[in-house]
Amino acid sequence: MNTSTIALTANLQQVHGKIAEIQRTLASMHYLCSGTLLKRTKLCGNPGCRCASDPAARHGPYYEWSYLKAGKLRHRTLTPAQAKLMRLAIANYRKTKKLLRAWEAHTQRLIELNAPK
Ligand SMILES: [Zn+2]
Repeated sequence: MNTSTIALTANLQQVHGKIAEIQRTLASMHYLCSGTLLKRTKLCGNPGCRCASDPAARHGPYYEWSYLKAGKLRHRTLTPAQAKLMRLAIANYRKTKKLLRAWEAHTQRLIELNAPK
């Protein structure tokens, strides 16, 4: 092996290692969901209720998950326990998208490195 072949092999191994790391990270995730999660409070509309005069006494919090289904924006109210899982699922979704972009870049690099000169 000449110096440039050794350098190329090291480079290839490094890129393969990065792909393996992405695969391990993806395999470690379980919950995955797109959309956004909002924490909301509400006014009940009763003029005698404390929420009418005191913003701190508004009802909730309520968790609203917004997502696209067949191109339409949908909303769904979640319990605090569901919201906790949804927050994780959304974070995983964003992380996955980022990892897929990196995987693509590494693949392009591998193809370039293997290309005949
Ligand atoms: Zn109220």
